[in-house]
Amino acid sequence: MRGGTVAVVGGSIAGCALASAAARAGADEVVVLERTHGRLADRGLGLCVHDGRAAELAATGALPEGIAAHRLTRRRWVVRDDPAGASGRLFWEQPFPFHSYHWGLLWRGLREATPASVVYRQGAVVSGVTDTGERAEVRLAGGTTERYDLVAGADGYRSVVREAVCPGSRPTYAGYVCWRGNFDARRLDALGDGDWPADTVTTVCFTGGSCVVYRIPGPDGPRVNWVLYALPPQAGRLPFDDPMSFPPGRVTEELTAHLGALLDREFPPYWAKLLGLTEPADTFVQPIYDLETARTTAGRLLLAGDAATVVRPHNTSGAAKALQDATAFEEAWRRSGTWAELLHAYQAARGAAGREMVALARRLGRGQVEQTPAWATMNHREVQSWWQALLGGAADIGGQAMAP
Ligand SMILES: Cc1cc2nc3c(=O)[nH]c(=O)nc-3n(C[C@H](O)[C@H](O)[C@H](O)COP(=O)(O)OP(=O)(O)OC[C@H]3O[C@@H](n4cnc5c(N)ncnc54)[C@H](O)[C@@H]3O)c2cc1C
Repeated sequence: MRGGTVAVVGGSIAGCALASAAARAGADEVVVLERTHGRLADRGLGLCVHDGRAAELAATGALPEGIAAHRLTRRRWVVRDDPAGASGRLFWEQPFPFHSYHWGLLWRGLREATPASVVYRQGAVVSGVTDTGERAEVRLAGGTTERYDLVAGADGYRSVVREAVCPGSRPTYAGYVCWRGNFDARRLDALGDGDWPADTVTTVCFTGGSCVVYRIPGPDGPRVNWVLYALPPQAGRLPFDDPMSFPPGRVTEELTAHLGALLDREFPPYWAKLLGLTEPADTFVQPIYDLETARTTAGRLLLAGDAATVVRPHNTSGAAKALQDATAFEEAWRRSGTWAELLHAYQAARGAAGREMVALARRLGRGQVEQTPAWATMNHREVQSWWQALLGGAADIGGQAMAP
């Protein structure tokens, strides 16, 4: 199928990839409607993509060449080891075939790779979409309406397109939060030798939570990125109705004090000091949510990335999944003769994949936060069977290979 007009709501990871896919597949007109004004590249978080997924995505063109990435090969699991052991006691080590990315640099690479024919409109806030049978309508916050042959929702966690595809489906709060932070890796010099190889991810484990620490590339050199999952203070009382309730620099004193107490009580001294190198302006708190949708298409509407499924971050699959959605969309387009065939093929390719990732990440969250095992007393065999039970038959974390 060739020709047609496509609007992509949201111009982040999924949005850029989907717009590129539509342009490559042969759409006449592709418009990205992004609500923010120019600040997307500043989001500056770390994320990881599994090497297997990255190779597939590079081969399809969904992951452009030349984006800065940091190679990771091993994941070490440590617990506090009183009274000795500044770095904690290593109780397990496993392969970790991933590369880490800086969110802003990944976004910039995807944005720059978007074909010139794609119109990327910033400050375009979409207030709703409607499937009219033969076309789809987009309502903009200014009051205007635009019509396209297809509207793709790449508008993330609180998608307005999802509301039209699966009315009433809302992300569910998992009952815990993550503190996230990052800092210039040169600050590590202040800590002395902590025996932390650059290609190694460390997971600090404690009762009721865990913390993942790894290096990422940054605009001004390597950075250290960490994500600490635990129950918030006075669980249930904080207003976790927004994924960015406590943005950088605006974390409350209560949440900061709670983090400090966790570091004092649960962390090996080296890792507590390491997290302490983070500036308040680079620390924030996000509640953890997830959502699985019954379908990813309806009429001339389609969902991709976090708009389609919100997966808890433990699975380290969100960016790869968004790029896979774009790849599946492009393949479905090339194989289809009509819009109906395209949407049917996309749903068939991506519906189950999203639901399986949500289920796996729930198991990972249960095992690493909600119902943590007695890590400190487990032997090697026990840790491995605990991990296999969490995987529940999946080959690994990081998302699944795409169907050939
Ligand atoms: C704590 C945390 C850790 C994570 N760690 C990892 C990891 O290690 N590895 C990994 O792969 N992924 C990770 N992820 C997930 C990953 O960041 C996302 O899954 C991925 O970026 C795909 O996002 P997206 O493009 O679908 O949505 P988003 O990045 O949320 O983008 C949605 C876009 O739509 C725009 N928008 C929203 N509403 C409207 C509207 N009404 N009108 C116009 N525009 C709109 C927004 O401004 C935004 O630019 C993590 C996520 C979290 C929260």
